[in-house]
Amino acid sequence: MKISIDMDGVLAETQKAFIKDFNSRYDYSYTLEDIGDYDCECAPFSKRTLIEVTNKLWKDDWECISPTEDNLRRKVKKICEISSRVDIVTARMKREKQMKSWLEMHGIYEDEHYSDFIREAEKHDLGHDFYIDDNPYYHGKVNKLFLYSRPWNMEVKEENGTERVYSLDEARSGIERLAKRTLE
Ligand SMILES: [Mg+2]
Repeated sequence: MKISIDMDGVLAETQKAFIKDFNSRYDYSYTLEDIGDYDCECAPFSKRTLIEVTNKLWKDDWECISPTEDNLRRKVKKICEISSRVDIVTARMKREKQMKSWLEMHGIYEDEHYSDFIREAEKHDLGHDFYIDDNPYYHGKVNKLFLYSRPWNMEVKEENGTERVYSLDEARSGIERLAKRTLE
């Protein structure tokens, strides 16, 4: 049983760091909820701006990016305990080094808490059994998606193998439940 855990928006609050940076630069007071869709079509900034600024944050200021949840290390470890292979996967290019440093800063180590850190634009090609991701475009593309609920994926319905979850613990319980059902 192979599990894929996404980095941006699932482990790391990248979008929140972006909003903070954007607000301070232009004296705005936007919130995460203002990123109302994944392509930023309803947002007060473009997807390109979001990608460029977050690339820069990951390059120069990655320590300022907070985790999405408290006790992240314990929660990732608990997912690791139910599967022989847990990969942390990102579609973002050229930031693997910083992302691995970020994970270590939060006590999450390769081999101890996850199997591999993988950079792959087409995550669904990696063939994991379960995906914990906030990207609404994986809905219907992967076998089983635990869609980490965020303001930018609210339009996705729970069908075709997608289940909305509000925490990593909830995703873990869902995986355990399905894995058990497969064995029965
Ligand atoms: Mg993501």
